[in-house]
Amino acid sequence: MTTAYTWVASPTHEYEDHPERPERLTELETRLSQFKIEKLDATPATRDEIALVHAPRMIEAVDLACASGGGIIDYAPTFVNPSSFEDALLASGGTLGCARAVWAGAASDAFAIVRPPGHHAEPNRAMGFCLFNNIAIAARDLLERGAERVLVVDYDAHHGNGTQAAFWDDERLAYLSTHQWGIYPGTGSMNDAPHAKERIVNVPLPAHAGDACFEQISSQVIAPMVKSFQPDMLLVSAGFDAHWDDPITMLGVSSAGFYGISKYLVELAREVCEGKIVFVLEGGYSPRNVANGASAVFAALTGVPFAEVDDASPHDEPDLTKMIEAIRAWHGWK
Ligand SMILES: [Zn+2]
Repeated sequence: MTTAYTWVASPTHEYEDHPERPERLTELETRLSQFKIEKLDATPATRDEIALVHAPRMIEAVDLACASGGGIIDYAPTFVNPSSFEDALLASGGTLGCARAVWAGAASDAFAIVRPPGHHAEPNRAMGFCLFNNIAIAARDLLERGAERVLVVDYDAHHGNGTQAAFWDDERLAYLSTHQWGIYPGTGSMNDAPHAKERIVNVPLPAHAGDACFEQISSQVIAPMVKSFQPDMLLVSAGFDAHWDDPITMLGVSSAGFYGISKYLVELAREVCEGKIVFVLEGGYSPRNVANGASAVFAALTGVPFAEVDDASPHDEPDLTKMIEAIRAWHGWK
């Protein structure tokens, strides 16, 4: 079996001078031929599939905003234009295609390279450059197909408030996010979800937390959480805005760091859920970092050596020891 991917670049989903633009993916496109991966054609999600997560009237509101010419629909700012509704359906559909292929055993693992991104979109509102929550929709769809538990790990630099909100009361779904603290959208503190300590885990990070911090988080937070929840499949919100020179955030990950965390997650999936793992693109606003980060994911999935990129962070990393101790205590991990 091979690694699968979908490609939904949405070239007409754009807005003047907006960082979430089609050019985010142009450099990545030139790298894909290095990997032995199988492209799956994306088909648009239906409204019923989107409604696995979103309220019907929210879906209608996005459709109407696009049909009436588009514009800015929240302060992030999130934009739509006349093609955005169809683009967002295709992004969700491309994500569903990857998750279903892996669940059915038609692909070993997969990467949904899609835009617009999804993890800020809440059940009742589009926000944060996101229209529909691609990864949350795929998680719910897996439950419909017989999965008993699905876990999302989100290493985008921003907290995935939308995924957390979608999973809030669903015991079958778990969410673990690492994100820079104090930036958009403002959610994601350690104690956001005291009712669900075993399945909603937030790791709010100081600026410049980078490769070494993510190694520590992997073994001391991600591994115990994944092993205790025992998902049937692992989904990953892969956001390359955690790179140290992303134009809109201040974390400290390098391309080698993206390889390290991605490889760690691939190995965890092999240990707990027969290798069933699907990465889904979220943010990342430098085309170079998106290309290097996504290549690191493909290297981790396919087992080809990661072509080292010389982009180590110039900043010293913060010491997370105390914070990780507090998180482990909050969640009851010995
Ligand atoms: Zn982000």
